[in-house]
Amino acid sequence: MNSYPGSLQGLVEHLMKLPGVGRKTASRLAFHIVRMPGEQAEDLAAAIIEVKSRLALCSFCQNLTEYELCPICSDTSRDSHKLCVVEYPADVAAIENSGAFKGRYFVLHGILAPMQGLGPDDLRLEKLRQIVVNEKISEVVLATNPTVEGNTTALFLSRFLRPLGAHISRPACGLPVGADLEYMDSVTIRKSLDGRGPL
Ligand SMILES: [Zn+2]
Repeated sequence: MNSYPGSLQGLVEHLMKLPGVGRKTASRLAFHIVRMPGEQAEDLAAAIIEVKSRLALCSFCQNLTEYELCPICSDTSRDSHKLCVVEYPADVAAIENSGAFKGRYFVLHGILAPMQGLGPDDLRLEKLRQIVVNEKISEVVLATNPTVEGNTTALFLSRFLRPLGAHISRPACGLPVGADLEYMDSVTIRKSLDGRGPL
């Protein structure tokens, strides 16, 4: 039998729906919210409502934005013929922080994961195909994560896009900066040697 008051138990159950949050963490967060000054708790609730009401998908790249076209797609100084395909909006932010890519993006909002019932119909592929054709994309960088599902998705997309004539590339996999070879797994070492470059 749960001894929490109903409203507190309701908050715990809502927080448990967040990714990576189990009952223990949800309870800790809920008690933290209970102890917050009223104004701070109201600000938190208002921020959740505001983000839900203001954010939509960019009509081009499908990233989250408050505008019809996101700031990256609106930036005319970027290379409009290079397109980087990523799984989620957070991946766009990570690549932007690196400063290594100056083209535009396409956010899949998922990957092929048959075990979770996610197939090609869930990935906005027709929109992606239209962009590659209409925008005369010369290079598509398939920057899905180097996981089993990410690699499968990249392979599927390369077959899907290849007939359209764009050069298809994939970021190299290898040793993280500052890594110690002694502690690397053999798959990472093999990938880094496969993708070795001149010095
Ligand atoms: Zn955009």
